[in-house]
Amino acid sequence: MRKNSIVILDFGSQYNQLITRRVRELGVYAELLPYHISPEELKKHEPLGIILSGGPASVYMDNAPKIHADILAMGIPILGICYGMQLLVHMNGGEVEQADKQEFGKAKLQVSAHPLFKDVENNSTVWMSHNDHVTKTPAGFQGIASTNNSNAAIADDQKKFYGLQFHPEVTHSQHGHKMIENFIFNICSCNKNWSMANYAEETIQNIRKTVGDQKVILGLSGGVDSSVCAVLIHKAIGDNLTCIFVDTGLLRLNEGKQVMETYGEHFHMNIIYVDAEERFLTHLKGVKDPEQKRKLIGGDFIEVFKEEAEKLKGAEFLAQGTIYPDVIESISINSGGTTIKSHHNVGGLPEKLGFKLLEPLRNLFKDEVRKLGEELGIERKMIYRHPFPGPGLAIRIIGEVTKPYADILRKADAIFIEELYNHDLYDKTSQAFAGLLPIHSVGVMGDIRTYEQPVVLRAVSTSDFMTAHFTPFSNEFLEIVSTRITNEVKGINRVFFDITNKPPATIEYE
Ligand code: GLN
Repeated sequence: MRKNSIVILDFGSQYNQLITRRVRELGVYAELLPYHISPEELKKHEPLGIILSGGPASVYMDNAPKIHADILAMGIPILGICYGMQLLVHMNGGEVEQADKQEFGKAKLQVSAHPLFKDVENNSTVWMSHNDHVTKTPAGFQGIASTNNSNAAIADDQKKFYGLQFHPEVTHSQHGHKMIENFIFNICSCNKNWSMANYAEETIQNIRKTVGDQKVILGLSGGVDSSVCAVLIHKAIGDNLTCIFVDTGLLRLNEGKQVMETYGEHFHMNIIYVDAEERFLTHLKGVKDPEQKRKLIGGDFIEVFKEEAEKLKGAEFLAQGTIYPDVIESISINSGGTTIKSHHNVGGLPEKLGFKLLEPLRNLFKDEVRKLGEELGIERKMIYRHPFPGPGLAIRIIGEVTKPYADILRKADAIFIEELYNHDLYDKTSQAFAGLLPIHSVGVMGDIRTYEQPVVLRAVSTSDFMTAHFTPFSNEFLEIVSTRITNEVKGINRVFFDITNKPPATIEYE
């Protein structure tokens, strides 16, 4: 919780994370909270402005979600977006009805001279997505902008209540950013003080205060979140942080070495390297079912981590790289209660390990975590790595997992990734890797018949990983990769390229 920021109350719009990010990009801290927050709880945040998000409900329905009426009397400027505007109208005595036809897509906005529209050109494009419309504005409100068929923006300048029927947060709304900027600076008088440099400094102080001279342990995977988390905590408490790195035998080529070099040697962190390859692979012997693989690996991981943690006497805190989207996902807007469900971090460590939790990244979006990492001096290459799944290569080796399979796949994968870097394609791809298929086919090498396995190259472009397009590489590039893999990796005699999108396929193979 931070004071003097913007609070966004969540009515379930698919864009509510975007609103939060837009405000932060402007240098002001913003937080998404459930719409049913109590006035007392809200007061603790001392917000300088409130944004009511859009949402799927209609305000005239019986159980329509509403904010507590006292929030309207707190004297804080409020900007309602779509459902949020309709709610402001409804709760202030105006009327909202279902329209004859829905308005979805682009519209041209006629604006009047108003602080909310400072530097907003007339006739610019805005993005609409609604069925309901305002048929009577409440007393005190006036129309401040219009499109062809709706009351597009309204204001009560006395109370500082504003409503936009369109979505300023999406990029299709040409001057939407400007309107959000006008609201937070001209109307709410926010200060620009949200930067990763400030955040790092503040958080380091807070960690010192919270932890004192107690000890902290952290499961370091080499991924962005756990790495940034580790470096941040290390800056705060130095050797009182111990990281545990578990080599499952299912990691990428040289992963362990790279992590030890970067974080152990370069950053001088205490890292316990646990070589658990045999344990994991023995356990996976004969297992072909993807879900069973995941369960076994998750279970083993917890066991190994627990054993190591127990050896380390006196650790009080468990640090985790939980980030804001994980937290937001667990805000249940339909629960009706005010509690935010606790999130189980992706690493899969259960709450019951008996530690106090330290989650210094839980307010940050992924791109903010990366910026923070750069701020802390972590090499760009480590920060902009593609995501890597917890079960590792086990879900990229279709069917049974063995050490020779993992070794083959590691080599093929490393060649693919190296060539992506060589051709300046790595950063243009959201996730790329090789998979191993459990089949054999005939080939010929040096006049000798081969009967070996194929690898499949998978590369996708996506902004949110919910949907994804396969990345269309040039034939030249694919040929370079295919030639290198078949030449350099014994056991592979064929290379496929996966041209399936998500959906219908998933990004990973199992
Ligand atoms: N459900 C409301 C409508 O249809 C609000 C939609 C929204 O917020 N996008 O008008």
